[in-house]
Amino acid sequence: MKLRIGIHTCGFPRLSRRGDNIIVENAMMGIGFHWQRSYPLILKGEPEFLSSPENGISLICNIEIEDYLRSVVSSEMNPDAPFEFIKAHAIIARSWAVNAYLKSRLPHQKDSESSISGETIIRIYDRSDHTLFHLCNDDHCQRFQGESAVTAKAEKAVTDTAGLVLTDRSGKIADSRYSKCCGGKTEIFSICWQNRDLDYLQSIDDPWCDLSALPDMHRQKILKSVLKNYDRETTPDFYRWKRSVLPEIIKNRLHLDFNIDIGVPVLLTPVKRGPSGRISLLRITGTEGEITIGKELAIRRLLSDDCLLSSAFDIDNGKDRFILEGKGWGHGVGLCQIGAAAMAFHGYSAADILNHYYPHTSLTHIND
Ligand SMILES: [Zn+2]
Ligand SMILES: [Zn+2]
Repeated sequence: MKLRIGIHTCGFPRLSRRGDNIIVENAMMGIGFHWQRSYPLILKGEPEFLSSPENGISLICNIEIEDYLRSVVSSEMNPDAPFEFIKAHAIIARSWAVNAYLKSRLPHQKDSESSISGETIIRIYDRSDHTLFHLCNDDHCQRFQGESAVTAKAEKAVTDTAGLVLTDRSGKIADSRYSKCCGGKTEIFSICWQNRDLDYLQSIDDPWCDLSALPDMHRQKILKSVLKNYDRETTPDFYRWKRSVLPEIIKNRLHLDFNIDIGVPVLLTPVKRGPSGRISLLRITGTEGEITIGKELAIRRLLSDDCLLSSAFDIDNGKDRFILEGKGWGHGVGLCQIGAAAMAFHGYSAADILNHYYPHTSLTHIND
């Protein structure tokens, strides 16, 4: 199975050659998030350029799925992560990639959508917006950082799990979402994306990602194993966090993201929350109007120029700023990377980890 991966670059792609490898000098990662940066991405084989009226020029790399996974699994975590955790990750990354491949053979459906009714705007960001390729190299799909990222341990995890995917009760490949830290309880699909819930993406209690009772050395070991250096620039207290947001930030973001002006925001009111506490509808009352925004990621982008850690927060509507007390990092649906790593450190297997985060699924060989 050959995947087509679209490489985001900062401006027109700049390529150089080293031996058999091509280096994309200005590849981008973390677009729109606080870890956004440009870096050199090493590719095996020749990439191709494609152009379309809607996307302009795209740089595409054609790669076998198992080679793609070696890089993705290496790009998502450090080599000193516990092996069973890396194996679990290889299986869900494969399931995701196969789903993207299968979906591309169907008539194109845009998953990201906006709907506006009265004073409510729902915006959903999803991964299958790509028309020229299956997946992009960024967090929007799965982190793919080319050959430079590949580690021996990730390579072994991909080989040991070769062809294994997660399937649901009907035998369909599961939509195996994952995020950094659920904050103690995982979230359901419909709070973040379309209004359909899946029985294997239900909200479960997750005691594993609460590292607060662990000795500091043990805690650091888990964090270091899961988080790349640039991820560790994030506040280490992402399980529980606090952030103050100035009304001007929201005013600017409303203008940038939605072209809306409601004056100066004075009141934030959660209208709908999911079982993990993530807000999927937030009302913003301003000096000159009111608007309700959803869903989860649209809210996180609205409240911070570099995207808030999560939408699970309580709000103190202060005099000149909003104080948010939040929990978790990411959408919280499916596998929680910090919790999964902690489970593996406690001796649980890849199958145990997947059973915990995706109930009612099985491991199936892709050729079965
Ligand atoms: Zn993408
Ligand atoms: Zn968790």
